[in-house]
Order: sequence, then C-alpha cells, then structure tokens
Amino acid sequence: MPKADYLIIGSGLTGSVIARTLADAGRDVLVVERRDHVGGNVHDHTHTSGIHIHTYGPHYFRTNSDRVWDFVTRFAEFFKYEASLKTLVDGQHENWPIAASYIAKHIGNDWKPEFTGTPTNFEQAALSLMPRGIYEKFIKEYNEKQWGVPADTLSADLCKRFDVRADDEPRLKPDCKHQGIPLQGYTHLMQQMIQGIPVELNFDYLKRRSETQARELTIFTGPIDSLFDYELGKLHYRGQQRKHTFLPDTHNAQPCGQVNTPMHSHGPSIRTLEWKHMMLPAQAQPISGTLLTTETPFTPNDPGEYEYPFPDNTNAQLYRRYREMADDTERLLVCGRLGEYRYFDMDQAIARALILAQRILRHDPNADRLPNG
Ligand SMILES: Cc1cc2nc3c(=O)[nH]c(=O)nc-3n(C[C@H](O)[C@H](O)[C@H](O)COP(=O)(O)OP(=O)(O)OC[C@H]3O[C@@H](n4cnc5c(N)ncnc54)[C@H](O)[C@@H]3O)c2cc1C
Repeated sequence: MPKADYLIIGSGLTGSVIARTLADAGRDVLVVERRDHVGGNVHDHTHTSGIHIHTYGPHYFRTNSDRVWDFVTRFAEFFKYEASLKTLVDGQHENWPIAASYIAKHIGNDWKPEFTGTPTNFEQAALSLMPRGIYEKFIKEYNEKQWGVPADTLSADLCKRFDVRADDEPRLKPDCKHQGIPLQGYTHLMQQMIQGIPVELNFDYLKRRSETQARELTIFTGPIDSLFDYELGKLHYRGQQRKHTFLPDTHNAQPCGQVNTPMHSHGPSIRTLEWKHMMLPAQAQPISGTLLTTETPFTPNDPGEYEYPFPDNTNAQLYRRYREMADDTERLLVCGRLGEYRYFDMDQAIARALILAQRILRHDPNADRLPNG
C-alpha cells in the first residue's frame, strides 16, 4: 500500500505547489493523480503541426507578486506574453474589455450607465457600467451562452472580472508586473515543479481510497462534493467543448489569440482561439498552417470536465455545507479551485497553496482547515 506522511490528491498547481514546498522542507510526500498526466488544468501539448496548444483552454500567466513569480521561474523560463483579446461586434474585431471610446462613438460622448443603485444580479451590475445597447452587444448573450441561464439570475459578483476601459489600451492586464507563458510549455513547468516527488498517475483516489494512507494529513484538491459521495447533492459546473480545426494554407486567421463571439447569431460557441499567437514568434513563424479551437459551453457530468463553478446563491450555499463537513474532518485539507469551488487565477492558486503549505510546516493546529479569505 503506498503510504506517506502527506498524501496529496491532484497534481494541478495547488497540489504540486504544496507538494514541492513540503518536499523542499524534507517532508515525506506522495501525489496521486486521476489523469494520465501531471499539471491539472494547466496541462498543454503539441499538435501534429508543431503548434503548442493548452489542453484545457487558454492560460495566460500574470501576477503582481514577486514571490509567486520567483517561485514559478525557479522551474521554467517564461517568454513575455501580454494577452490582448477582441470581441466580434457587427462584423468588427473590437477591444475586450470594452473601450470607452467605442461607447462614445456608438452612443455619444455623454453616455451614462443604464443602472444606478446597488445591483442585486449580474445584469444590473453590468448595466451599472454601461448603456443597455452596449451590454446587449458585448455581454448579455455571451454570458447566457456561457452559463446557460438568463443573465438576471446570475450573481452580481461575476462583473468583477471585467470593466470599461477609459483608454484604448488593448492589453488585458496592462498593469500586471509579471506576465508570460513558459517557454517550453506549462506541462514542462509542472514536471519540473514536481520532479523527484513520487507521483502515481491514473490513480483515482475516490475509487482506491483503501489502497493508500496518509500518516499526518490528506490534502484533497478534487471536487469537494465528490469526496463526500455527493451526500448533500451535486455542485453545478460549466465546462467547454473544444473543437479544433487545422487550416493548412492559412498563416494567421484572426488578429489575436482569442476572439469572443458573444451573440447567439454567432452560434453556440463563445470564443475562438488561435494558438500560434500564444507561441514565441520565432517558434510560430516557421510553422505552416494555423490551428483554431472553438469553445462551446456545456454542463459536464464527468468531474474531469469541470471548469467553472456556477455563480449563484444555491450553489454557494451548498458549497458552504460541504465546507463545514470538510473542516470538521480531522487531518483532511480540501483546497484548490475544485476543493474550494472557486475560480482562482493561476497566481492566486499558487499564492494560496504557498500559504497552506507554510501552515502545515508550522504545525498550525488549524492547518486542516482553510484560512479565511
Ligand atoms: C478554461 C479555463 C481557463 C483558464 N485560464 C486561465 C488564465 O488565462 N490565467 C490564469 O491565471 N488562470 C486561468 N485559469 C485558472 C487555472 O486553470 C487554475 O488556477 C488552476 O488550474 C488551479 O489549479 P488547481 O490545482 O487548484 O486545480 P486543477 O488544475 O483542476 O487540479 C486538480 C487536480 O486534481 C485531480 N483530481 C481530481 N479528483 C481526483 C481524484 N479523485 N483522484 C486523483 N486526482 C484527482 C485532477 O485530475 C487535477 O489534475 C483558467 C481556468 C479555466 C477553467
């Protein structure tokens, strides 16, 4: 039976950062992973054309934290990549996030947001940033496709992920201090991070619990409801079905790596990715053809396809009940994007994992519970 002092379930960023930090401090660690590869959601691979593709959707690394940047660059070199996104509106590629100049051009210089007051749902929150005509072109149907429900049933908090740009700055995060993509890819980064630590691949902990044991602490980074056999019901997720199209005679098909297709009239997909834009130009240039991927939202049943926690109160409340169960179980820490039922950018997942690992190393009596915030 594989045993260790610290058993870590899941080799994504959360599990791997904790594993690395504990192993560096001399602790006995074992990682088990359901998939046949390490890296979790940030895994990437190379298409037969030589184009590098992020297996589970595009990943743009960025952080303002020197600590997080120093940590990741220990394992891999990054090239500078600052994502610029476009949205297809009336046949034109417009900036995303929305530029105030676009609103001024189409509505007038004295435009005002449609909604005043305290928003109680996503639609109101979005309308508190912009006029209705703009909301309807850029936001409403995109989110209805993404979540599969009317926009006024979604949480207002979702709006925290975008704004209206006062200037015409096309970069997604112009103020972020460190930005890039690992030169040899995310899979290489993750393999380097976890190097020297025992990892069992193709090991579904939920099916093989009795085959392994932690002497000190079990750290579970999979879906929290699955760990408790869905005793209180299932948490709802959305995923993306990805369709890849290789165009052998086209060098570049779109102006940037990601073009959003927000309207129902664009079809059910919400965005098209062109991976060559996300490669170092010197690596992408000699490759003939281009690879496009369209992403179409759906509701997955297989936990391996869970991507976005569903942003509504019903699921938030159900998660809180599972959280109590997890925190009441001794020597068990449930964390990470699936364990905390929360969207984390990569740098947030790393920063959080570093904090959790330090608590474990300090023998904090609450190390098997999540810190607040
Ligand atoms: C579509 C998409 C795009 C994203 N783009 C960006 C981006 O551009 N920039 C950014 O900063 N962040 C991005 N993110 C966020 C990023 O993917 C997360 O921050 C990161 O994946 C969190 O890592 P994690 O280890 O918490 O979870 P995961 O990567 O999901 O790792 C969990 C691991 O646990 C394993 N596991 C689950 N259950 C079991 C089990 N029963 N037994 C064994 N193993 C199990 C899984 O197979 C998986 O490997 C994106 C996320 C999504 C969904």
